[in-house]
Amino acid sequence: MPDLVVAGNWKMNTTVSEAAALAAAVRDGAAAAPGVENVELVLCPPFVSLAAVSDAVKGSAVKVGAQNMHFQESGAFTGEVSPGMLRGLCDYVILGHSERRQLFGETDESVNNKVKAAQAAGLKPILCVGESLEQREQGKASDVISGQVRAGLEGVNDASGLIVAYEPVWAIGTGQAATPETAAEIMGGAIFETLRSLFSAAADNVPLLYGGSMNGGNAGEFAAQDCIHGGLVGGAALHADQFLQVAAAVAAAKV
Ligand code: PEP
Repeated sequence: MPDLVVAGNWKMNTTVSEAAALAAAVRDGAAAAPGVENVELVLCPPFVSLAAVSDAVKGSAVKVGAQNMHFQESGAFTGEVSPGMLRGLCDYVILGHSERRQLFGETDESVNNKVKAAQAAGLKPILCVGESLEQREQGKASDVISGQVRAGLEGVNDASGLIVAYEPVWAIGTGQAATPETAAEIMGGAIFETLRSLFSAAADNVPLLYGGSMNGGNAGEFAAQDCIHGGLVGGAALHADQFLQVAAAVAAAKV
């Protein structure tokens, strides 16, 4: 089974001091929460708080991730952050989140460039894929997801360190999570099969995370599915206790 991973996407929330306090609360809570030691916890604050969060979790098992990055190493890209700038500050980077795709014009091609750049820099990409409600209603969910996974990973030869998060757009921030069965159909189907076709047996070690209104109450049902190895958590990740409840539920479901 792949590693269990629960990542918190803090989005554009928390000041630097709030981020440091939240990270410290997760760090301390994780040390006291039974079973959570079996789950890789990844905190993804805004760029400006990466250093503070990294400092707060130093010496603990809690890891840090960025929410995005540019694929170029340096240059005239005002407002952007490069892979090399993240190295040393974090281990993971979320790429292709649906908010980036919808609000900031990211394409499969730019996401693919970022995945390759992240790997080249020694960062672990959390590649996000997800269909819109319209695509689902048109019966296109599986095709859309296979396409996003294949395009996002074009030219990627090494699956080690890779994580794929299935986040149906209609479930993000809406309080309307997918059912575990719906998520498993896509994750064990379109996503796993595409990974298998790309990476053969190495696909078996790629953690697949569900994201979309996941919380401590529903995380266990998702993780009870064989093909779901954790979660990418938005709203609930802004509260240390709720984030740790998700991690505890994932750990308990996989015992
Ligand atoms: C997300 O933004 O990745 C996410 C899953 O958000 P939420 O948990 O709030 O739906």
